[in-house]
Order: sequence, then C-alpha cells, then structure tokens
Amino acid sequence: MSARILIVDDTPLNVKLMTAKLARDYYFVSTASNGKEALKKVAEEKPDLILLDVMMPEMDGFETCLRLKRNPATAYIPVIIVTALSDIEDRVKGLAAGADDFLTKPINDIALMARIRSLLRMKVLMDEWRSREATALQLSPEVAEALSGPLNIRNCAVTVIDDTGSDGDVIRNTLAPLAAKVSIAKNIKQAEAHLTKAPGDLVYVKLDLSDEDGLQICPFLRSELATRHLPIVMIASPDDMEKIAKGLDLGANDYILRPLDKNELFARTRTQLRHKRNYDRLRSGLERNLMLALVDPLTGAFNRRYLDAHFPRFIKNSRERKKPLSVQMIDIDLFKKVNDTYGHAAGDAILKEVAMRLSTGIRPSDFFVRWGGEEFLIVMPDTELHNAEKIAERIRHRIEAEPIFIPAEPKGVKITISIGVASTSPHEEKTPAGVFNRADAALLCAKQAGRNTVSVNRTK
Ligand code: GH3
Ligand code: MG
Ligand code: MG
Repeated sequence: MSARILIVDDTPLNVKLMTAKLARDYYFVSTASNGKEALKKVAEEKPDLILLDVMMPEMDGFETCLRLKRNPATAYIPVIIVTALSDIEDRVKGLAAGADDFLTKPINDIALMARIRSLLRMKVLMDEWRSREATALQLSPEVAEALSGPLNIRNCAVTVIDDTGSDGDVIRNTLAPLAAKVSIAKNIKQAEAHLTKAPGDLVYVKLDLSDEDGLQICPFLRSELATRHLPIVMIASPDDMEKIAKGLDLGANDYILRPLDKNELFARTRTQLRHKRNYDRLRSGLERNLMLALVDPLTGAFNRRYLDAHFPRFIKNSRERKKPLSVQMIDIDLFKKVNDTYGHAAGDAILKEVAMRLSTGIRPSDFFVRWGGEEFLIVMPDTELHNAEKIAERIRHRIEAEPIFIPAEPKGVKITISIGVASTSPHEEKTPAGVFNRADAALLCAKQAGRNTVSVNRTK
C-alpha cells in the first residue's frame, strides 16, 4: 500500500534518515521542519499519515497534533508522535493530544513499518466510509446532524484474553472511570466463543499466554464478520518486538509493553475506543442515511432515486452478459375506490401487504421499487421477455388468490393488479426511459383489456 507520509522534525539528520527508510518502502515522503510548516503542508498536501517529532522550537509536537485533531478537515489523518525519551508522561501527553500512536527514539524499524501499515489500513477503511457517507449526505442532508456531536466512549465492553487474570485486573481498575464492562477469557477458545456472541468494543490479548500463542486470535477476529473491525491491543514484553510486528501485520491495532503503566493503558484504550466508536457511528449513520434516502418507509421498497442511481449499471451488466433485462410495471386496480370505501389508513395497510407479496414473490437478484403512489416496478436482470411474462402472471395470481384482511373488513378485501411487461433491446440506451415507457404502454393495454391482466410489449 503506497501512501504519502509527512515527516515533521527540526533535526535535518533525523529527517534524512527517516526519509531514506520510508522511501525504501515506496512511500511518498514530504517533510517539514517545524509545527507551523507542518500545518501548512498538511493543508496543501493532505498526507495519509504524519510522523511528528515532539521537541521542536516554537510550536512543539503536542500543540501541532492538537491543532490537527481539532480541525475537522485534518482530524482523520493518523498522527504518530515521535519522542526522544522513553518518558511515559510524554507518550500519554501525545495520546491525550489526539495522536493515534507514538514511537520512541531510537526508532525500531520493525515497529515503525508495522505501525505505519496498521494505521494506513485503518485510514483506507475510514476514507471509504467517509466518502460513502458524503454521498449519502448529499442524498439526505436532513440527517447529517445525527453524525456530528461528541463521541461517547463510556460503558464500552472490553475483553481481556489472559490466563492468569492479573493483566485483566489492572485493566479493569484502570478503566473504571469509563464504566467499562471488562470480561476475562482464560484462553483463545473461550475468547472466540465469547467474542462471536458479544464482540464488544475492544480486545486486549496477552501474547505470552502460558501454553498457546495469543496471536492466533488475530486471524480469527479479522475473518469473522462480527469482529472484523474490533480493535485488538496486544500486551507484550519489550523483547517481543518481532512478535508484535507480526501481530500488527495480522491486523492487531496497537500494543502496550510491560510493566503496564496505568496512564498509558488508559490513553491507548481511549484512542482505540474513539476509533471504534467513530467507525461505528459512521457505519450506522450511513446505514440510517441510506435507508432514509433510498427506501420507501411504508413498503420497504427502494425508491425512484435509488432506481435512477442503479439503473445504468443494470443496463451495462445486461449488455456485457448479452442477456436482456425485463421490467414489470405494476399498478393496483381501482385503488381509489379502496381508499374511498375503507379510508386512507386501511389503504396504506393494503398497499403494504401488496408490496410484501410482490417483493417476496421475486428472486433476490430482482429489484423492487415503489414507482409512485400505488404503482410498483420490478427490474429483472438476465430475464427473457417470455420468462418475465410467466413471472408476471404468477405475481398477478398471487395478489388475486388471497383477499387482504383489514380490521374494517373481516371477510377480506379482494385486490387485483395489472402488469405491463417489457424487455431491453441489445442496443438499449443507458437511460431507463425506453424500457420503462414500453412497460408503461403495456400497463395501459392491461387496464384497457379489463384490469387484473398481464400485457406484454413486444416492440424493441
Ligand atoms: P386503475 O385501475 O385505473 O389504476 O384505478 P385506480 O383507482 O387505482 O387509479 P388512480 O391512479 O386514479 O388512483 C390511484 C389511487 O391510489 C389514488 C390515491 O389516492 C391512491 N394512493 C396513492 N398512493 C397511496 C398511498 O400511499 N396510500 C394510500 N392509502 N393510497 C394511495
Ligand atoms: Mg391504480
Ligand atoms: Mg395509478
């Protein structure tokens, strides 16, 4: 994975060494020699990651980091703080300033590269969600608000994989101010069973379990859908560096070295939880947005907006596969009378039931859309006209066969539909107009033929 990395350091020799290391791994490198210059470069170049020295004149690394993280336009860029001292206070200060990670000088190359890769992986993921979110927000700006506001990291669920329980105890005590629920798993098997059922928000794993390899949990968690994005933090000794690097490559997000320092533990946990909650929020916000923007709330069918966005892709696929695409235009017969007789609310209930029967009578690859008031459209990829006609006939029958029960009519209301069917030609224009118009014309024929009928438009 190539990426642009900004190195910020006031010592030219450090910059030169680091540049050489990163360039060797094919990263694009740019440099800044103080905090002010760094802020300018970040604004101009939008790097994918920043390596930030702490000790600099004028604006030190902490201040620079704080400013980057306070600015929404740059907050999402991962920052690794580089400290000269192995001073724990510095590390904690860095993490408190919003840094995503830190390294101490002299820099261990394995740790450096593994951390860069791990943070870049996360950034790629977040970029993807952010761009989808931007699209969704354009479609539905009214819910943008739900996505802003401070993150809450209290009441999170943390699992510690620890055979002796002593690390687990330290973690439980340390996270008490966050009201975290800490569970301890004695071995990998127990952890897998627990996390599959209740993934929670964070996993700590001891790498030196007495008779198994803690790293085994990484591939498991990364391959399961429910735990794919669950942060993993390794607990290790300073001489476990190679194993730590392997863990970071396997998808672990961070590590903490023994002896466990409470402040560092707290700061690292907070950082991971912030990432997790941010990710969750993006994802659920996005899903909610998509639902609101693209799905009709009464019937659960996709709306026209979604159809318009996806129809060109349907046409393209059918052209590539050289198979026609068919559509059914469906309209409920004499629905106005239903409304007049039973009222609008009963009409809604009937509409819902019709939509349910229509949507459950088609294949998963078919696409069900509420076209307008009591009109629906079904798009059927890879479907010849004569097959589409058979399916339409089956659907028509499905509605006619069983009356729909509403409280006001214990005997049930007899509902019928009319359907117009048409297919794309091999040279179909990219816009939906052609085939939709043909299906609409067929629908009119079905109505004229007396309703409760399927009519096929055979012109291309
Ligand atoms: P036709 O067989 O010719 O289609 O007759 P129709 O009465 O169904 O035709 P028309 O298009 O004139 O009327 C459709 C009616 O559907 C009018 C409108 O009140 C009703 N309708 C549209 N959307 C909704 C809805 O969301 N809920 C309810 N309850 N009724 C709706
Ligand atoms: Mg109608
Ligand atoms: Mg109508």
